[in-house]
Amino acid sequence: MGGLNSLWNAVFRWLLAGFFLTACAIGASAADRTIYLTFDDGPLPGTKNVLSVLSKENVPAAMFMVGLHVETIPAGRDLLAEAKAMPLVTVGNHSYTHANNRYRQYYSNTQAVVADMLHANQVLGLTPMVNARLPGRDVFRLPTVSREDLSINVAQWEREWLDYELVAEAGFYLYGWDFEWVHSNDGKPVQSVDHLINEIDHLFQYGRFTQPGKMILLMHDEMFQDQFNGQENLQALIRTLRQRGYAFGDIRTYAPSNP
Ligand SMILES: [Zn+2]
Repeated sequence: MGGLNSLWNAVFRWLLAGFFLTACAIGASAADRTIYLTFDDGPLPGTKNVLSVLSKENVPAAMFMVGLHVETIPAGRDLLAEAKAMPLVTVGNHSYTHANNRYRQYYSNTQAVVADMLHANQVLGLTPMVNARLPGRDVFRLPTVSREDLSINVAQWEREWLDYELVAEAGFYLYGWDFEWVHSNDGKPVQSVDHLINEIDHLFQYGRFTQPGKMILLMHDEMFQDQFNGQENLQALIRTLRQRGYAFGDIRTYAPSNP
């Protein structure tokens, strides 16, 4: 009898330990797995769909917008106003010209880079401190987080680092990203939603993010046009991530001491 009792005792302890560990894992997962949705280059075709899904799903997101697009895209000013009116959406600065997509040339003139970012503040109606993302550069400059773009070489960094510092000093919090939902030249998403979610799961298991447990996901507004099933894709992404226990974070609370 004594043998049976101690066996039951062991089984009971084992079950209890399993329950406790599972409870810890569930408790940890929600707090330690936060995704920051970020959308670049708007207003563009696709922006309307992004805003509509964000509003329907009630999730926070950052929209890093381009001043020139506000002025030149049909309904650009309306889309900007719509985004700014949404409490969970942070409209950020993504420069005025987007470097005309010639990044090496753009970052060869520090004064012009700072002036271009300040010009976009005027067009976007933003006042310091401004949440921002430099065009073409995955650089962080926040009060408590600083990180370089590992895709450029040291010689290029030596030509550009002063630009990053002086832009930050001019009243900007600069955000890079941890992972990208990639698109082709015409804006079509490369990964399917399922594939992307697999990649995200994998990265949270093994990846190292700029901030532990926090992934900044880069996307572009143009990926969400009707021709690419933009609304359906974005809605599927958000709903599936939510079902899998991820939390969605507000970029304004990404790092301590942000505005
Ligand atoms: Zn961009």
